[in-house]
Amino acid sequence: MARSSRNGTPNGAEPGERKKKKLNREGLRQLRRITPYLAPFKWGMSLGIFLITVGSVLTLLVTRLWGRLGGVGLVPGMGEASSGDSYIDRLGLDTPMAIGLGIGTILVVQAALGFFRIWLFGDMTTRLLKNLRGDTFAAILKQPMTFFDTRRVGELNSRIAADITTIRETFTVVMAELIRQTIIIVGGLTALVFFSPRLTLLMLVTLPLGMLATMAFGRFIRKLAKQTQEEVSLSNVIVSETLTGIESVKGFAREAFEIGRYQIRIEEIRRIALKTALWKGGFVSFIIVVIFGAITVVLLEGARMLQSGDLDAEHFFSFLLMTGLVAGSLGGIANVISNLQSGLGAIEEVMDLLERPGEHLRLEAGSSALRDDTFRGEIQWENVNFHYPHKDDVQVLHEINLRIEAGRTVALVGGSGAGKSTLASLIPALYPASSGAVKVDGISVQNHDLTALRSRIAMVPQEVILFGGSIKENISYGRLGASDAEVEQAARDAAAYEFICDFPKGFDTLVGERGVQLSGGQRQRIAIARAFLARPDILILDEATSALDAVSEHEVQESLTRLMQGRTSLIIAHRLSTVRGADEIVVLENGRIVEQGRHEDLMARSGRYAELVEHQLQNDEPSERAEPNKGDEPNDEKLA
Ligand code: ADP
Repeated sequence: MARSSRNGTPNGAEPGERKKKKLNREGLRQLRRITPYLAPFKWGMSLGIFLITVGSVLTLLVTRLWGRLGGVGLVPGMGEASSGDSYIDRLGLDTPMAIGLGIGTILVVQAALGFFRIWLFGDMTTRLLKNLRGDTFAAILKQPMTFFDTRRVGELNSRIAADITTIRETFTVVMAELIRQTIIIVGGLTALVFFSPRLTLLMLVTLPLGMLATMAFGRFIRKLAKQTQEEVSLSNVIVSETLTGIESVKGFAREAFEIGRYQIRIEEIRRIALKTALWKGGFVSFIIVVIFGAITVVLLEGARMLQSGDLDAEHFFSFLLMTGLVAGSLGGIANVISNLQSGLGAIEEVMDLLERPGEHLRLEAGSSALRDDTFRGEIQWENVNFHYPHKDDVQVLHEINLRIEAGRTVALVGGSGAGKSTLASLIPALYPASSGAVKVDGISVQNHDLTALRSRIAMVPQEVILFGGSIKENISYGRLGASDAEVEQAARDAAAYEFICDFPKGFDTLVGERGVQLSGGQRQRIAIARAFLARPDILILDEATSALDAVSEHEVQESLTRLMQGRTSLIIAHRLSTVRGADEIVVLENGRIVEQGRHEDLMARSGRYAELVEHQLQNDEPSERAEPNKGDEPNDEKLA
C-alpha cells in the first residue's frame, strides 16, 4: 500500500515542492548546460529579447504620455503644454487629441509586437520542449537497471511532466518578465528622479519598506498554505490507502478506526487553515495602513509641491502613474526571481538525467537487423560474485561456476531468495557481475553489443506486466511487425489461443486499466506467446508457470518443451515436477551452488535436491490439488 502511494501519485509535480537553485554562479551554470538545446533558437531568442526590450520601453513611454494627458487636461482650452523635457516636447504632442492619438499608435505597435513575440516564443519553446521530452524519455530508458532500482516511478514521471513544463515557463514567461521588469524598474526610477528628486526620495524611503514587509508577510503566509497542503495530502493518503485496502478494512471491521484516523487529520487541516486565515486578515490590515499610508504621504507632499509651484501638473501626474508602474514591477520581481530559481532547479534535474551515461544501446536499428547467425547461445558463469550495485553490503551470489552448452536446458532450483532470478538476470547483462565474468559464446556479456545480445534472449518472468493495448499488440511485443498469422500461431503454441478467442473481441481485446483484467495464468501464457514469437536463442523461464494450476501447467509445459527445443534454456521452477527433464539441475542455496546433476543422479545421491523433492511431495502437491490456483481463470478449473 505504502508502495502504491509512493509510486502512483504524481506528487513530485507539486510546484511548491520544486527544487530551487540559488542565483549564484553554480545556479547560472545550469543555463549553460542547457545551451545545446537552445542553440538552434539563438536568433529567434535574440529577436524575442529585442522585442521585449522595445515593448518595455514603449510601456514607459505610454505611462509618461498618460501623465502629459493629465497635465494638459488640467489646463483645458490652453491646448498647450510645455513640460521642459525636450524629448517629450519634440514629439509635438501638445493637444489632448494629439496625445491620445500618439498613445493609441504606440498601443497598436505594442500589441502587434507582443503578439508576434508570443507566437515566436511559442513556436520555439514547443520545439525545444519536444526535443527535451523525447531525449529525456530516451535517456531514462537507456539507464541500467540499478538506476530504476533506486528511483521511484513518480519521481521519473515528474522529470518528464513537471520539470520540463517548468523549463518552458522559464524560457517564456520568466525570461520575458525578468527583462521587462528590470527595464521598467531602472527606466522608471530614472524618470522619477528626473520629474522630482525630492518626491522620489520620499517615495523610496516609505514605499519599499512597506513592500519589503509585505513580501516577508507573503512568504510566511505561503508557508502556512504549504503546511495546509501537506496536511491535505496526508489526509489523502489515508483515503487512498483505505480505499485500496477496502477489503481488509471491511474484513476486519475497521471502518470506525479509519474514520477516526481521518478525523484527526482533517481537524489538523482546519486548525492550520484557520491560522492562515487569521494571518491573512492581519496582512490585509497591514497593507491598508502601511502601503496606503505611504502612498498618502507621497501624494500629500506632491500636492504641496504642486501648490507651491515646485512641480508642474504634468510631472505630478507622470510621477504618480510611473510610481504605480515601478511599484508593480518591484512587487512582481521577487516572484519572477523565485520562478527563475525553480527553472534553474528543473534544468539541473533534467540535464543531470540527460548527461547521465546510459547503457550502450543501439536504439535506431530494428531488432531483426541485429541478427547475426554466428550466435550459438552458450552461457557461462566464471567465478561470479555478485551484489546489487546499490546494495553493496549484501552479497547475493558467491563463486558461481556454471556452464550451459548451446541448446541445452538447465534448471535452477532452491528456496526463495537463493539468488536464482539474480543469476539469470546477469545473462542479458541487466547488472554487471561484481567480480568474475558472465560469458555468452565465450565473450563477456559486457563486451557484447547489448541490443543484439538482448534481442537474442527471451525472458518469461514470474510477474507478467502487460501494456495497456490489445492482446495482439501485447504478443507482438516479442517481435514488432509480426504478421497476424504469426501472432495467432504463437498464441496456439502457448496454449493461449482458446481463452483469447473466448473474448468477444478476440485478439483485439484490450487489456489493462481500460480493458479486461487477465488472470495471472492468462498473463503468463501471453508472455509465453511473446517468447514463441521472439524466436530467441536463449530462453529464460523464471517461474513461468507458477500462476497456472496443475492441469494447465501440464498443457503449457508441453508447449514450453517445444519452445525450448534447440534453444539454450534456463528454467527457474518452484514446482520441481516441471524440471525433471532438464539436462542438468542446479541447486542454489544462499547464493551458492550446492549440487548439480541430472534428476536421477541427484535423487540417487539423496542430497539437498532429493530432500527438496521429498519435502514438496509431502507438502505442496496435496494442497495444490485441493485448492486450484486462485490466480487463474475458471477455464483452467474446468479443465481440471
Ligand atoms: P530467487 O530468485 O532465488 O528467489 P532473487 O535472485 O530474487 O532470489 O533474490 C536474491 C537476493 O537478492 C534476495 O536477498 C533479494 O532480496 C535480493 N534482490 C533481488 N532483487 C534485487 C534488487 N533489484 N535490488 C536489490 N536486491 C535484490
